[in-house]
Amino acid sequence: MICFTLSADTLHGMSTQVDRYRGHFDALELRLDLLRQNEREELLRGGTFPAWASEIPVILTFRRESDGGGWNGDNTERLNFLTALVAEHAGHLVGEGQKVFLDLEDDVVALDAGRKAADTATSYGVQIIRSRHDFERTPEDPAATLAELRACGGPGEIPKLAVHVRGSRDLVRLVRAAALGDGRAIIVGMGPYGFPTRVLAPRLGLLLSYSSDAGQGRGPVAPGQIDPQSMAEVYRYRSAGPTTAVFGIIGNPVLHSRSPAFHNAEFGRQGRNAVYVPFPTDDLTAFRELMELLDIRGLSVTIPHKEMVADWFTGAAVQAALPAPAAAERVSELAAVGACNTVTRDTRGNLFGANTDVAGFLEPLLSRLPDLNNRGVTVVGAGGAARAVVYGLLKAGARVLVLNRTLHRAESLAGEYAILGKITAGALEPESLPAVILHNDVIVQTTSVGMKPDTDADPLAFYTFAGTEVLYEIVYAPPRTRLLARAEEAGCRVVGGEEMFLAQAKLQAAMFSQV
Ligand code: NAP
Repeated sequence: MICFTLSADTLHGMSTQVDRYRGHFDALELRLDLLRQNEREELLRGGTFPAWASEIPVILTFRRESDGGGWNGDNTERLNFLTALVAEHAGHLVGEGQKVFLDLEDDVVALDAGRKAADTATSYGVQIIRSRHDFERTPEDPAATLAELRACGGPGEIPKLAVHVRGSRDLVRLVRAAALGDGRAIIVGMGPYGFPTRVLAPRLGLLLSYSSDAGQGRGPVAPGQIDPQSMAEVYRYRSAGPTTAVFGIIGNPVLHSRSPAFHNAEFGRQGRNAVYVPFPTDDLTAFRELMELLDIRGLSVTIPHKEMVADWFTGAAVQAALPAPAAAERVSELAAVGACNTVTRDTRGNLFGANTDVAGFLEPLLSRLPDLNNRGVTVVGAGGAARAVVYGLLKAGARVLVLNRTLHRAESLAGEYAILGKITAGALEPESLPAVILHNDVIVQTTSVGMKPDTDADPLAFYTFAGTEVLYEIVYAPPRTRLLARAEEAGCRVVGGEEMFLAQAKLQAAMFSQV
């Protein structure tokens, strides 16, 4: 179930939230603590319950500040309010066949008011969600915590553990705990590292996942939450289940990546029971455990892990085994560039690595200039992306000039690839202008300069376009950088970063379809 947490401070505001995402959620969480006091009291005095809250399963939650909520008043008053609210409305709702849940924290079992709220609720057929929150850390043994939550209240309660995930190791522990569940637990990994638990809830056999009006108003109710429409449409939540194949992207940071939208849409088109998830990753050894636990079938790899993941694959053994037809070439590109952006895993757990950046870069360029042989090309930048770009250009026969802010990085890249063709290096400064003029059939921009939010920056401001160049900008956000706009205005043919992104992603998708 996708549970939509209503976070407005009035019932009218909540009803607007419901209308905005109608059709994209399966349950609602009514956050009583976020409502204004008079609105909350109105629920008791007026005697009417909002119509939208009586259409689908509803969770009543009145959260304390210490648990991430908005209530900083008296705890007994809070629990008594819940008791009164349930007594006022639950009988009617449950009688109409609606599922009603009451979220109560585990520590309130020690209080008379807490026990009374639970007893009243169960007497009306309301199910208790027994919750514990930790905004600092993930427990050492989350499965034991879940067992404590199951045991602390009455029979049949639903345990809910919402904890801050500090890194990949914490995520492994949470996923292990989920695997031991019975389909009636709620586990929420908060923060970027916990994000996979939110979108993988159906795959992990969890009861529900929370979403909120993330892009609107007050923003996400808990760290890492996204809106219900993205859960349903981008992450294919409703078609996922325990047999769904898991794919993803590892990087750090990675939640901004466009790859999930691309690959999930691709799975949708193929009618494949699969989901693609961003995994912010700070520990590759822990992530390897996660790959086994989740039976992850394929991965995209991005900054800063491409080089380290390349080390997983040692030459010949990998080359021999990769399944896709054109893949042998992608594998040799991995070895030459020393960076891996694609991993697949067969049913026996064998890993295969490849690099689709080289071919993804070349494809849009070759559609403009089919013959690069002896063409002069200036590559701006000498980072990870530049390695794939320079390798591809040299293999295609181009003469390459690498310019970089840090000169020695350009020199070392040129030194490393000298064996493959004609390559020189220079500093990213006006003194390099004469050399650029000798290498200006194509200019490739591979630095992060000009990327959002610094969209006014132009790494090649000292160069005036003649209009005969092909300008290839690999930054894709924004789609039209200052440099690209300047080249286009001068009459140049241009290639934007979007094209490279799509070309490399399509090659990955072809490899993912083999496993
Ligand atoms: P990287 O390895 O960190 O390299 C960054 C490069 O940018 C280095 O050459 C660095 O120069 C240079 N740079 C950074 N800040 C600079 C500044 N203020 N002035 C001048 N140069 C600067 O990153 P990467 O993996 O190569 O990625 C670079 C860009 O390519 C990113 O924007 C990424 O999103 C984009 N990209 C796009 C695609 C696509 O499919 N379209 C694929 C891969 C990457 P120094 O050596 O002097 O630090």
